[in-house]
Amino acid sequence: MARGLQPVRGTHDLFGDDKRRFDHIVAAARSVAATYGYAPMATPAFEFTEVFRRTLGETSDIVTKEMYTFASGSGEEVTLRPEGTAPVARALVSGGRLQVLPARLFYDGPMFRRERPQKGRMRQFHQVGIELIGEPSPVGDVEVIAAGARLLERLGLTASVALHLHTLGNGASRDRYRTALVTYLDQHRGRLSADSQRRLDRNPLRVLDSKAPEDREVADEAPRLLDYLDPDSARFFAEVRSQLDALNIGYEIDPLLVRGLDYYMHTTFEFVTDRLGAQGAVLAGGRYDGLTERMGGPPLAGTGWAAGIERLSMLSGDNLPATPRPVLVARVSEDATTQALRCAEALRDAGLAAELALQGSLKRQLRHADRIGARAAVLLGKRELEAGVVSVRDLDSGDQSEVPFAQLPGHVLEMIDGG
Ligand code: ATP
Ligand code: MG
Repeated sequence: MARGLQPVRGTHDLFGDDKRRFDHIVAAARSVAATYGYAPMATPAFEFTEVFRRTLGETSDIVTKEMYTFASGSGEEVTLRPEGTAPVARALVSGGRLQVLPARLFYDGPMFRRERPQKGRMRQFHQVGIELIGEPSPVGDVEVIAAGARLLERLGLTASVALHLHTLGNGASRDRYRTALVTYLDQHRGRLSADSQRRLDRNPLRVLDSKAPEDREVADEAPRLLDYLDPDSARFFAEVRSQLDALNIGYEIDPLLVRGLDYYMHTTFEFVTDRLGAQGAVLAGGRYDGLTERMGGPPLAGTGWAAGIERLSMLSGDNLPATPRPVLVARVSEDATTQALRCAEALRDAGLAAELALQGSLKRQLRHADRIGARAAVLLGKRELEAGVVSVRDLDSGDQSEVPFAQLPGHVLEMIDGG
């Protein structure tokens, strides 16, 4: 096939069960979010580049190498959104929607990152996420973590994931820690991967969650952030932990969990799986107090998470709710066109799925019924037209009966009730 006609590397088309599983995940997330009072919202797929550069950090992986940035056409530089939190904060501030706080918001949509495509890592991927903005207490973190846990439970994934929890403390704690970490890493510079040697100068905390084995050895023995927390930060984290305990939400403290974006502080967390290779994080988030201020708004607290739909989908496997089987309406005689259309509409009025087959022999139409997994076929020929009836074939049992047109929907509903 000509090269231009393939999907772009790192992007995917979705059909059939894959798309149904995808939609099911979005619907489950939206419904779980609603039970916590999170209202759906949407932001554009691209933003002024500043929205991300100002907030994610000049040294973050996303800003340094993963953004799709281009000229908007009016002389401004814009970027396809790589994540949803900064746009949500931007939307609240620029839309002046800060009267009712805390704001509880749910979003879903595509995200774009120029990454090396591999299993579970795409250039266009999709997230569902929630943001709780204007809630400074640790209970806010507990709420969003509980919502994440509930979503994973709803998707049947509780046994496949573990909750990793950590804290970055407040700015002062993090700065003190960074100094100690840099001193330590400097002593082991030679053992680090080339990537991490670069990170050491720009974003040393990122060395801790490097996936390179040589970095992991060094990271394992690095000073622990938890030992550098000031009393406020330690109290904050203790409260998160004790309320999670009270809700029976299990977690493990992961001293190497640092999220890669500048805006995080205090609580960070990830639900991870060992079933997707290196792409183990399925739902990740943390606290980002002050993000609204970076957008030129008031300084508000914030906390939330985002989950990768493709990764959730890969984990879910065949776990799909059944879809109703359609009824095929087959037109055996040309004259039956109007009656076929009417039958199909009448079935739909009754809430059934009806598909028209207008072409080819009866045999061919029934083969199509089989291919689409139809439960029943409605057959319309000359005889049926003249008698004012329709023939209905139960495609599971093969039984066929004639019913008056008006009784068609009731007849099919009864057939489906019967199995
Ligand atoms: P990773 O460590 O795997 O690169 P991340 O820290 O970059 O993840 P976040 O920015 O926290 O990821 O995004 C939240 C979630 O979105 C991730 O936990 C993951 O499920 C999903 N995700 C992130 N990047 C990708 C991608 N390139 N392809 C598919 N899913 C992704
Ligand atoms: Mg990443």
